[in-house]
Formats: sequence, structure tokens, C-alpha cells
Amino acid sequence: MLLYNSLSHQKEEFVPVEPGKVSMYTCGPTVYHYAHIGNLRTYIMEDILDRYLRYSGYAVKRVMNITDVGHLTSDADTGEDKMLKGARREHKTVMEIAAFYTNAFFNDCRALNIRKPDVIEPATHCISDFIATIQVLLDKGFAYEAGGNIYFDTSKLEQYYVFHGFTEEDLAVGVREGVEADGNKRNKADFVLWFTKSKFEDQELKWESPWGLGYPGWHIECSCISMKHLGERLDIHCGGIDNAFPHHTNEIAQCEAYLGHKWCNYWMHVLHLNTASGKMSKSKGEFLTVDLLKQKGYDPMAYRLFCLQSHYRKNLVFSWENLDNAAVTYDKLIGRIAALSSAPDESVDEEALTAFRKEFTDALDNDLNTSLALTALYDVLKADTNASTKRKALEDMDSVLCLNLMEAASRKAAASAESASSGTGVSPELAEEIRAKIQERADAKKAKDYARADAIRNELAARGILLIDSKDGTTFQVK
Ligand code: AMP
Ligand code: ZN
Repeated sequence: MLLYNSLSHQKEEFVPVEPGKVSMYTCGPTVYHYAHIGNLRTYIMEDILDRYLRYSGYAVKRVMNITDVGHLTSDADTGEDKMLKGARREHKTVMEIAAFYTNAFFNDCRALNIRKPDVIEPATHCISDFIATIQVLLDKGFAYEAGGNIYFDTSKLEQYYVFHGFTEEDLAVGVREGVEADGNKRNKADFVLWFTKSKFEDQELKWESPWGLGYPGWHIECSCISMKHLGERLDIHCGGIDNAFPHHTNEIAQCEAYLGHKWCNYWMHVLHLNTASGKMSKSKGEFLTVDLLKQKGYDPMAYRLFCLQSHYRKNLVFSWENLDNAAVTYDKLIGRIAALSSAPDESVDEEALTAFRKEFTDALDNDLNTSLALTALYDVLKADTNASTKRKALEDMDSVLCLNLMEAASRKAAASAESASSGTGVSPELAEEIRAKIQERADAKKAKDYARADAIRNELAARGILLIDSKDGTTFQVK
């Protein structure tokens, strides 16, 4: 499988540290507000990676943190704590809003078929791990104390700016206007590991540490939580592109200084979902949520499909019109799959199935090309093979794409059978009975018991029910 690696800026053959096993770390949400659908684009694409690795036979262990402390309103250590701001906005405690929005996040994930990671760890559960790691960084000379805070000394590294295109200039981007630079820092790129002194003194959650009562910086949490659960060598680290710098750059600095060797081999960054007016941002307070999509009558699967239609390394523009198009496409797709359900069961054409699978895996093996994987899905529908083979291939693909294809199609088939039966004046019970007879006749034909098949047709005809055979299966009409 080829995967684009942000470290080498090219697609690389994915080779895990331990054959057959993959360790995967995902930066989790900062739980001071609902996740917006931009955040969820990142989690959907990471979910595809997770599911596809499993589909390809790897035993995946995936870990995600929950940021419930330490993430400031700027990524460059300035501003207020986001959690505290959220708590103040809602007149609740930090822990109350953390619990509420963590729950809301996993509800959204469920609605979008995003698999829960194997380990989910809130930052506030790991304070002693952070303290121990920071102590080692101090002992090794990679950190220093200044003005009551502990800082990471980036000048001690051979290379700090590991991701392409990020330089010292970018540090200014994360800093809000009007916030002066931190005079305690020895180098511009240095960052806080532990705060005891902040301009915002009313931090709600504080812990005892060797350096005084305080709280951790944001970056240390991901380094520690990853190493705690996935060990010293990580296969894949994921996140949205905004996390590459400074967050992931700082994670690498901390881990490699702590370990004394290379830490993570592959970095996957998902590009942003933007609106026509720019980046969707949680801190701006105005954003689109999964609940809003549901309230407006969209199936969350239409949004998942919308995301899968484009590549994760391209920005994606959200508009209601684009989502409407995805919703129509989803509905048509389900309609076509539903039409297969009336066809009789036949033996699966293994050769065709293998070819379908190959087209699908070729697409995803090429840096998770989900839009080509969807083309593979449509090619199944178009192919000249029996419905049973098509159903099997679609089911297989949907175990990765997770668009609820088969469930939605059988619901649609049942609903259209019901409306067809009501149109012909047949009760749903009778329609069900006729469908059972149609299936029995198809089975009889398959077993070459033509006498039985004809008997069923004649028996129904005698009751005024005519069977109509076509390439896509059998339907009925009432005289
Ligand atoms: P946060 O809760 O702000 O820490 O962000 C959660 C995840 O969403 C991170 O991986 C971010 O990089 C990612 N993210 C933030 N904004 C966007 C966006 N507009 N589009 C896609 N992903 C985003
Ligand atoms: Zn992180």
C-alpha cells in the first residue's frame, strides 16, 4: 500500500515496524464545543485508513487522546485555555463541558460510522505521565525552567522544522494580534511543557508538580499518550493539516529527544474542509455540526459520501448545493442497490468478485483514493454478472466505505414493495407472501425443479397475480 508521508513529501510503500501489526495514533478533539463537520472530515478519512488497514489483514491498534486541558486559544502558547473559555461560556465546570462534548463527539462519530479507536485517553488522566516525561527532558538538557514555566529548548535539536514548508515565520501565524511574545523563551520556536505562570491566572484545573502547581502544555499530551499505549516506535500518526505545525512538529521534538531515536514513521495529514468564505473554525463559534445536517433532513451518510468523493490531500469546499448533490447521488446509489434485491439468489461468480476486489484495492492502495474506490463500486453495478455476485462485492466494499449501503437498500426495497403493493391494492401481508413465493420459485429454478417453479407461477396466476420476469429479477402485477 502506498501512503503519502508528510515527512518525506512523497508516497511511500507502507511497511509497519512489526509485520502484520499497525500502531496508529490520532489527535483527538478539544472538547470545549461540538465538533464541526470539518473536524469530522478528518476523522472520516482517518477512519477509512483504519478500516482499510484492517481489511488488508493488519491487526491495528489505534489510540486517540481527548484534549480536556492545556490547548490554548492559539497553538503557540498564548491566549486563554480553550476549555476554560468553553466552561465560562456555558456557566459550567471544565469537567462538565469535557464530559458533555466528549459524549457529543462520539455520538457524531456513531452517526457517521466512524469506528471508535481501541484506546481513548483524556489528557487529565495522564498528568503523572506528563510530569515524568518532562522530568526526563529536563534531565537530558532538552528543557529549561524560566519564569515559572518549563520550556522545550528547540535549539538542542539537529532539526526542528521537520515538515515541508514550515519555517519560523509560521510561528507568528498562531499568535493573536496584541499578544506579546513570551520573553521567557530562549528561542522563538521553544514551547511550553508545563505552565505554572500564565497571563491568565484563573486556570481551573491545576496539579502539583516538581515545578509547582500548574498544568501541562498541549503538545506533551499526544507524545505521552502515544508512547504510553503504542510504545517507542509508532507506525502512523494522523491529524488535520493545521496540526502539522507547530503541534506535530513539537510532538516529534519531545518524543525523539526523550527516546533518543526516530519515533514515528508515517505522518498522514488531512486537508481542510472550507466554506466559500474560508476555513471552518471551532473557535469562531459559528460552524456546521452533524446535528444541524440531521435537522435539515440530511442523512449523515450523504456527508460521509461527500467526503469520500474527494481525495483527503485536497481541500474540500462545503456548500449546501454540494451536499445536496451528494445526497441525490447517495439516494440514486441506494435505489440501484435496492433493485438488486428482488433478483433470485444465484451462485457467486468468484472470478468476477476477485476482479471487483482488485479494482477496489488498487484504488485504496494508492494513497487511499476513495473517489476511485467509489468508481469501483459503480463498476460493480454496471457489470454484466448476476445480482448475487454484485451484492457480495458491494457488501465487501462497504465494509471499508461504511456508507450503510446494504441496510439502506433493503429498507428502500421493503418500502417500495410496500408502496407497490398499496398501488395495486394488495395488503403488505399478501405482498410479503408473494415475495416469499417468488423466492421459492427462484430457488426451485436454481435446483432445476421446473415443475415446482411452474406450479408456483400457476398457483399465483389462478389468484390473479401475474409474475413478470426481467434481467433484474421478478416483480408481480395483480389483475
Ligand atoms: P480540534 O478539536 O480543534 O483539536 O480539532 C480536531 C481535528 O480536526 C484535528 O485533527 C484538526 O486538525 C482537524 N481540523 C480542524 N479544522 C478542520 C477543518 N476545517 N477541516 C478538516 N479538519 C480540521
Ligand atoms: Zn495531538
